Amino acid sequence: MINIIIAGPPGSGKGTLAKIVVEKYNLTHFSTGDMLRQEVENNTPLGQEVACILERGDLVCDDIVIGMITHELEDHPQMTGFLFDGFPRTIVQAKALDKLLKAKESPVNLMILLDLPDKICIERILRRGTIENRSDDTHEYKVQHRLNTYHTVTKPIVEHYKKQGKFIAVDSSKTPEHTFNQVEACLKRIL
Ligand code: ADP
Repeated sequence: MINIIIAGPPGSGKGTLAKIVVEKYNLTHFSTGDMLRQEVENNTPLGQEVACILERGDLVCDDIVIGMITHELEDHPQMTGFLFDGFPRTIVQAKALDKLLKAKESPVNLMILLDLPDKICIERILRRGTIENRSDDTHEYKVQHRLNTYHTVTKPIVEHYKKQGKFIAVDSSKTPEHTFNQVEACLKRIL
């Protein structure tokens, strides 16, 4: 069983890389962003609670996202492995995930950080906003806000995985294939 985390700024291609890795390595894909957007779309009580947080580009509180991941892991007791896309995003979430996976005796194997300049993130996101009609992707100031949160709150969790020797950064400024090739080379070394 292998467990992989994909992290990176908004627009870095987490979802795109996740889809390729999940298919190649037969993993179960958990995207907290997709789960939250689904709640909003279904207009559930949780969706109503988080709609304006997503709209503003703020992080949803740790308890909510940790709760969602806890339920998903309970629902998938015997899987080959998990790919966490956009989770954890805070130190509290990283520690909670360690604990959840420890209980399954199957720790995180690798955290992959997608690296690219902010300028390219902004260009990609604004393009995606028009194509996918995502309301948090249509204004540059909202994207800049998410990037700031990424740099101040999420990026520091790199140290958590670096200390455990489970971290790689890959260049995500080119094509999805170029990004995946770097990831595959690393996975071949560790698996
Ligand atoms: P992006 O990386 O472009 O911001 P995501 O789909 O990963 O896209 O996340 C969209 C939004 O969902 C975030 O801006 C945030 O509001 C919320 N979100 C997703 N994952 C988390 C998380 N792990 N913790 C807190 N909020 C989250």
